[in-house]
Amino acid sequence: ARRIVVKVGTSTLTHANGKLNLKAIDQLCYTLSGLVNEGKQVVLVSSGAIGVGLGMLGMSERPDSIPQQQAIAAVGQTQLMTVYQQRFAIYGQKIGQILLTHDVVDYPTSHQNVLNTFENLLRLNIIPIVNENDTVAVDELDHHTKFGDNDQLSAIVATMIDAELLIMLSDIEGFFDKNPRKYTDASLISRITEIDEETFEKAGGQGTKLGTGGMITKLKAAQKMLRADKSMILASGENPSIIFKLLQGDLLGTLFQ
Ligand code: ADP
Repeated sequence: ARRIVVKVGTSTLTHANGKLNLKAIDQLCYTLSGLVNEGKQVVLVSSGAIGVGLGMLGMSERPDSIPQQQAIAAVGQTQLMTVYQQRFAIYGQKIGQILLTHDVVDYPTSHQNVLNTFENLLRLNIIPIVNENDTVAVDELDHHTKFGDNDQLSAIVATMIDAELLIMLSDIEGFFDKNPRKYTDASLISRITEIDEETFEKAGGQGTKLGTGGMITKLKAAQKMLRADKSMILASGENPSIIFKLLQGDLLGTLFQ
């Protein structure tokens, strides 16, 4: 794949105590920079704004109030980009921030403007770093969706820019036949060609916001990719350099194709 979208979750970027996982961030930055040097075009969709913001403001829990969450996200997003800027600079890699709202899907002019920005960043070997614009878009920040839904956003970005592959790094090794956090005998499914109701049931139920865990939104993202005749790999973000192995064809995690 020449054009790749990589999505990382909060669990990959931060420790349980709220501090940044510098080892993971550093590995992510050198891996993606390495890919660009090999001639690939890479887009990073990064969660973590609220998680990092909470840490910055010395808060241990995310408040219920959405405006408060937005304020925290504003602080966290800045810090997150600062860290990315510093880490990527070590590898000589330039980055550009892209904050999106659903407008880019709804309005053709917005869609085209975003597309133009992506194309020009990629042409210049710059890694666009994407997140939802939490100041403008509040609907995804409700109480049921843990840290927002960048899973589906990453699939929308991937189809929009015609990337062949979406690599989703998570706190889990891949997609299992049942939730491995609940069932010790769950087994990893290394390849999925079709997503139906049965697949969603393995993720803990209906494809609704009330469904358990973040696996539902990951399946929805995979569904978007499959429908567009593209692939997605779900793998562990513990060591983001796993991306090198995934691109070599090593079957680590789950390949949706
Ligand atoms: P991230 O923060 O990396 O985006 P999430 O924690 O939101 O990831 O989603 C991954 C979680 O989904 C897993 O840790 C697990 O608890 C849950 N899950 C539910 N069903 C499954 C399944 N069938 N296979 C793997 N994980 C599952």
